[in-house]
Amino acid sequence: MEESKKKSPPVPRHKVPDRDPVERSRDFQEVALGFSAEDAQAEALRCLQCKKATCIDGCPVGVNIPVFIKAVAEGQFDEALRVIHDANLLPAICGRVCPQENQCEKVCVLARKFGAVSIGGLERFVADLGRERGQQVPSSGETKPTGKRVAVIGSGPAGLAAAGDLARYGHKVIVYEALHRPGGVLVYGIPEFRLPKGIVDQEIAALEGLGVKFEMDVVIGRTITIDELFESGFDAVFVGSGAGLPLFLNIPGENLCGVFSANEFLTRVNLMGAYDPERFDTPVYVGKRVAVIGGGNVAMDAARVAKRLGPESVTVLYRRTRAELPARADEVHHAEEEGIKFEFLAAPKQIIGNDQRWVTGVECIRMELGEPDESGRRRPVPIEGSDFIVDVDTVVVAIGNSPHPLVPTTTPGLAVTKWGNIVADETTGQTPRAGLFAGGDIVTGAATVIEALGAGRRAARAINEYLTKT
Ligand code: FAD
Ligand code: SF4
Ligand code: SF4
Repeated sequence: MEESKKKSPPVPRHKVPDRDPVERSRDFQEVALGFSAEDAQAEALRCLQCKKATCIDGCPVGVNIPVFIKAVAEGQFDEALRVIHDANLLPAICGRVCPQENQCEKVCVLARKFGAVSIGGLERFVADLGRERGQQVPSSGETKPTGKRVAVIGSGPAGLAAAGDLARYGHKVIVYEALHRPGGVLVYGIPEFRLPKGIVDQEIAALEGLGVKFEMDVVIGRTITIDELFESGFDAVFVGSGAGLPLFLNIPGENLCGVFSANEFLTRVNLMGAYDPERFDTPVYVGKRVAVIGGGNVAMDAARVAKRLGPESVTVLYRRTRAELPARADEVHHAEEEGIKFEFLAAPKQIIGNDQRWVTGVECIRMELGEPDESGRRRPVPIEGSDFIVDVDTVVVAIGNSPHPLVPTTTPGLAVTKWGNIVADETTGQTPRAGLFAGGDIVTGAATVIEALGAGRRAARAINEYLTKT
């Protein structure tokens, strides 16, 4: 082939820069630094502007990715944010925490050979710039107050998205939240170094700007029931109460001192500021050696939070191999960089304690991988006689969460699955009870921020249709 006809190889993907691993593992400041305008534009220019943009199918809320990326490439950053906002009201959050490698970026045509366009990195860049410039979530200018009232239960991404859209349709919205601060997992679960809380606060302030009211410390099903909300004049209710009930292994020793559920551990540190004893009075204990049991995002967060509290070692115990870790690739990579150890093919059998009932170790059995199970992953099989002990002072159990039964058990007319999830129509969030809608983790089980956000938006549309008919 003549030299002039050779195609030049595509420019490699620009990596979102991170802070130095040693430095960052000693504090709670954000790990990923974000693109500069120059890098963002260069990365945007890698996008092929495909006619059939497969990336859009990979986004649970259908962000018009090529259009926003074209605007970035042309330096039209305000326009890029406007395009993203059409589908996604929380881009600064999603750009940081979406598992892009399994969503939009997975199906980018460049993914396999050259590295997907950094869609998440660009979304974050555009959203951060918009926040710096004071660009607001657009309110629909022509909305007139409808006089209808909607209660939203829970202030996680599902509740926030539903509340924002309902307010934009002109309804009066009150969000009831059990905790003292709004945001759901975004504030109590995902640590500051992955998602600075100031960003969540700004998104919530934007919703308040749209007229949404927040009532904190209200536990629906205890403080007030859904029946009582309807009796007090609400025309519709959306339940977005999440899946915040921690699962345990049910092995001996799980009630010893020094054993935490990941939820409690992360809540103490993230929501209640235990990492900053000068400002907050919340105790937390890690001792010298910490074991985290599990392999998902929650386990990575717990391990990386524990590391920042200063123990000598943090070890993740996982019963399969690295290849099967369900956590985001980025989180595993960051955890490894920060010095977290991994003990693969290790299944805890019991937690061991001393006379004072404090943890001293975890007894594990070595596993090997057998045939694939119903999830398609190879099933771990114990190797007889291979027991071993990992010496630790603290154990964090991070093996998953299920829905809290309080709302379903105190609300007549709701149906639940055998796992305790509320049964609701996938496209509308409608439950069997008129006027009552649900979405997010309470319906799907533990999923992702953007899926919860999408469910909240779809439910808001359906609630609006329901209210215009009643
Ligand atoms: P939630 O965010 O759980 O919010 C539910 C809210 O309802 C909570 O604030 C809760 O206090 C409140 N509530 C519950 N019951 C009541 C009641 N009876 N009365 C009043 N309020 C109530 N997803 C990603 O996409 N990327 C990630 O990186 C990621 N990391 C994660 C890390 C951790 C530690 C955890 C736990 C989850 C993570 N997820 C991640 C999953 C994601 O956060 C959830 O799928 C998402 O937050 C679900 O949103 P939601 O609105 O349905 O529920
Ligand atoms: Fe990708 Fe998430 Fe943005 Fe959708 S919202 S384009 S999945 S980063
Ligand atoms: Fe651009 Fe990839 Fe989407 Fe094609 S699939 S439009 S290259 S982001």
